[in-house]
Amino acid sequence: MLDERLVKPRYKLPKGMRYATLEERRDFYRNEFDVSKLNEWFDKWSLKGPVKFAVIIGRHTHIFPKKFEEDASTTIIIDEYKDLPDMKAQILEFLPESAYYDRNVYDERGRIVGQELAFDLDPENLTCPIHGTLADKMRRHQGLAFCEIELNMVKEETIRLHEELEKRFAQLRVVYSGRGFHIHVFDAGCFDWKRRERKALASILKKEGFLIDEWVTTGGMRLIRLPYSLHGMVSRTVTPVDVNGLGGFNPVSDERCLPRFLW
Ligand SMILES: [Zn+2]
Repeated sequence: MLDERLVKPRYKLPKGMRYATLEERRDFYRNEFDVSKLNEWFDKWSLKGPVKFAVIIGRHTHIFPKKFEEDASTTIIIDEYKDLPDMKAQILEFLPESAYYDRNVYDERGRIVGQELAFDLDPENLTCPIHGTLADKMRRHQGLAFCEIELNMVKEETIRLHEELEKRFAQLRVVYSGRGFHIHVFDAGCFDWKRRERKALASILKKEGFLIDEWVTTGGMRLIRLPYSLHGMVSRTVTPVDVNGLGGFNPVSDERCLPRFLW
């Protein structure tokens, strides 16, 4: 049976969203996490280099396997793995609350040869008619909280940003990240963009009123949530979504992003 004290988030979340237990993380990564879909994902990368993965075991949830107590809040890089099933086996060992990949592309000698361009839209950056601004939420120690209204607003914002980005790029993928959305750019030409070019685009979009996380777009934060992994703070699967169906996508109830332990 679920221990309610264990999974009750410190942050207010939409109905049904809650921390996943260790058992649920194990069940998810053992039975649902499909690395063959990741092959497809990284096939779209124009530069083919070894991909680095990363996990955070229990920084926000404080739920972690006892043996990893010391490293529960650390970002652990997984860059030594035989193949994707081996990477999955390592994740099953850590049972993390969050899994990521590194958008940097490395060559065989570990030198950075490019970076995937991505945009991050999170609900906390929007001003909610009920819960106010991020500053308001921080004052209530609810900086990571979000509600269904904000979730809907961030979805509409993602659709608008996608429309804008379509004017510039041809290969866009939208991912529901568990809290908000990511837009990934797979256009070959963007992988070798310099920081200056990334910053320039981020500035234009911010001037146009888009509430993107500049830190992600310019590459300061190079880790991004791993598609098909579990977001352990909200118990949702990180799910690529076709932008044409995005308007009707509701992460609170949509089966596409509900891990089986919630069915
Ligand atoms: Zn709200």
